[in-house]
Amino acid sequence: MNYYTNVILPIPLQKLFTYKITEAESSFLKPGMRVAVEFGKSKVYTALVFNVHQTAPEGYEAKEIYQILDDIPIVNELQLKHWEWISNYYMCSLGEVFRAALPSAFLLESETEIKLNTEFSNDQELSDDEFLIFEALQHQTQLSIFNIIEILGKKTVFPVIKDLIEKNVIVVKEQIYEQYKPKLIKYIRLTEVWSSNEKLSELIDSLGRAKKQRELILTYFQLKSLKKPIKVSDLQEKANCSAPVIKSLVDKEILEFYFIQKDRINFEGKTSEIKQLTTFQEAAFKSIKENFEQKQVTLLKGITSSGKTEIYAKLIKEKLEKGEQVLYLLPEIALTTQLIDRLQLYFGEYLSVFHSKYSMNERVEVWNNICENKKKARLVLGARSSLFLPYSNIGLIIVDEEHESSFKQYDPAPRYHARDAAVVLANIHKSKVLLGSATPAVETYYNAKQGKYGLVELNRRFGDVLLPEIELVDIKEKHRKKRMTGHFSDRLIKMIKDALDEKEQVILFQNRRGFAPVVECETCGVSPQCPQCDVSLTFHSYRKELRCHYCGYRQAMPYNCVACGSEKLSTKGFGTEQIELELHQLFPEANVGRMDLDTTRGKYGYQKIIGQFEAQEIDILVGTQMLSKGLDFGNVSLVGVMNADNMLNFPDFRAHERSYQLMVQVSGRAGRNKKRGKVAIQTFNPFHQILQQVSTNSYEEMFKEQLDERWQYHYPPFYRIIKITLRHKDFNRVEQGANWLGKSLSSVFHEDLLGPTTPAISKIRNYYIRHLVIKISKKQNLTSTKNNIIKIKNSFQAIKEFRPIKFNIDVDNY
Ligand code: ADP
Ligand code: ZN
Ligand code: ZN
Repeated sequence: MNYYTNVILPIPLQKLFTYKITEAESSFLKPGMRVAVEFGKSKVYTALVFNVHQTAPEGYEAKEIYQILDDIPIVNELQLKHWEWISNYYMCSLGEVFRAALPSAFLLESETEIKLNTEFSNDQELSDDEFLIFEALQHQTQLSIFNIIEILGKKTVFPVIKDLIEKNVIVVKEQIYEQYKPKLIKYIRLTEVWSSNEKLSELIDSLGRAKKQRELILTYFQLKSLKKPIKVSDLQEKANCSAPVIKSLVDKEILEFYFIQKDRINFEGKTSEIKQLTTFQEAAFKSIKENFEQKQVTLLKGITSSGKTEIYAKLIKEKLEKGEQVLYLLPEIALTTQLIDRLQLYFGEYLSVFHSKYSMNERVEVWNNICENKKKARLVLGARSSLFLPYSNIGLIIVDEEHESSFKQYDPAPRYHARDAAVVLANIHKSKVLLGSATPAVETYYNAKQGKYGLVELNRRFGDVLLPEIELVDIKEKHRKKRMTGHFSDRLIKMIKDALDEKEQVILFQNRRGFAPVVECETCGVSPQCPQCDVSLTFHSYRKELRCHYCGYRQAMPYNCVACGSEKLSTKGFGTEQIELELHQLFPEANVGRMDLDTTRGKYGYQKIIGQFEAQEIDILVGTQMLSKGLDFGNVSLVGVMNADNMLNFPDFRAHERSYQLMVQVSGRAGRNKKRGKVAIQTFNPFHQILQQVSTNSYEEMFKEQLDERWQYHYPPFYRIIKITLRHKDFNRVEQGANWLGKSLSSVFHEDLLGPTTPAISKIRNYYIRHLVIKISKKQNLTSTKNNIIKIKNSFQAIKEFRPIKFNIDVDNY
């Protein structure tokens, strides 16, 4: 008898590969265990067992596996089912899903490079093999798995490496460790007993003759009237007192220390009960549960600051009490400490966080905890990739801000949409999905209206604060009347001034980073271009640099025009950096902060700025769309949109929907507490229908109009879109390939094929790009359509000249 296993290899090839195993191995191996195998020219890979059988492969002699890497499956059958769906639906290989799903430490292969862990302390017992590698790393900074096979003189090296990783001796190289550890800022406040202003005199009396302490408390109240969190250092300085005085008040439990900014999740045992829901929230909560009795998916459409998170919390609590797992999905950049802190207070001992800025070790830890269904990983808060974790018993998936386009993965494959993949995952677990948004995606709302999803609405803000008052400022008019200072209208300047006078904070939104998107020669009109991409370079004034936002290319700002030598170079358009600069001139007293890709790199960059804004160390925060994501700042009374027009004019069928969502979401940052907030939107087109809809909060109207257009022009939700992208460094080759492909596809799809077209940015990183788009009506059979596409792809790749062209398929490209 011969025994075989079919395995998934982490490569783009569609099929499974068969390897030979012994009888003993056949009874030990289970689907979801890893094995090391050789593939191609003596390359070693980590593969995943899909099944075990006794049928020899046809057409090739099966090789033996090198060794088994796990004692128990690390991937379960529910996951495999989900992966199969993703691979079928999004037209990629199971291997690509496998590669995306596992933390890289689980996926060793011959090219993987390892290095010594700098934090390794020499007190571990090492085996002979382990010591050989450790020693080799004293002489070479990194080793590939290949090198290690040579050093140890055997092919079965993965377990040795696995042990070394677990003993923290080595790390996998692609892992970049974060050097920066955020500083903990120490703040001080009155303990709850003493926190009300009415207790001041009682408090002073109670201090009796302790004069220093009394003075300190009075100074504290002075600082408190500024309505900002009070740093310990500030209090000490202002009161001119020594640390022991503060300490004695802390010992008396009158004052207490607290910190803003936290490192990774570190449950400190501090918890609070979830909040009592308001009548309206309670009604929504009940209605969600009723909907779940009939529907697998329910949409909670609740305006900004209506308290959606509190409703989620109550649902989560019920599930956790039943011992079920809950997945809370958020767009990557909305995963802020704000929300983490909030959930940690409610569910500290259950909460794990998972996202791409976490180190490999942290991710492996979360994976293992979920695999063992540990209590501390029952509630997972994560970005889209947390869909792939080894859940065994999901009770509920929440997709918050479900309209966000960053739930879609564009590159590399699998090009999945996390919201849609979540619905399938929940189905596999026989559980429910709650989608939440103030501005649902048109598809989602359509599904709800059609009765496919349940629909629950919540149209009151918590505390009955009114939605902000939105004012459209016509800057065409302002320019004509010379009432602009730089990019600020007199109206916006006045509103900022009023807010600052009231000691309130301001958020300004500008969709572009950098200083100016285009530099142009006034003499000949030429703009400096990226040498590798088909785009103009963006001017960043801080470093006097030109940068490409597509490939990262940078060069010093030239003094002369490259084309004609003229010295007259001017800038056009504007970005966050320029707004920041203008603010310094307009409001020299105010502290201005900037939040965009340039200022938020690194694991803590983003949190640092949010922390400062929260602590009110920043008065005006300028930023890109990062600002729109689920942030909750109590003291922001004004939001300004610097220019609404460039997003409206973006060439995409979703531009209007997206503009609406973005503007409503940023507006939602204003006036979340007590007082009604204000929003000013500067535009050249105040009568644009989308701006009108934003200013009157008319989601329904926006939805109906957009839906009509989608119907008319054959877009989702009525049609599916499959987009094919071809890329190659040789212009002619990609051109010929695209034409060939266009002809073949149009013979099958006729007028449902658009293209080949050249995208607005036709070259990125020296690759020329062509697009072909296939529109599929909902009545068409999706499977046979996909099969047709795959057939044509195979013939395309059978042509020798076309084989090197990169061929991407993106299903539901939106
Ligand atoms: P959303 O997610 O809908 O924008 P949030 O859940 O962030 O709204 O709620 C907005 C603010 O109102 C938060 O500061 C939250 O703590 C507060 N809040 C909401 N509901 C309640 C409640 N029932 N009791 C106390 N505070 C609440
Ligand atoms: Zn010129
Ligand atoms: Zn470039």
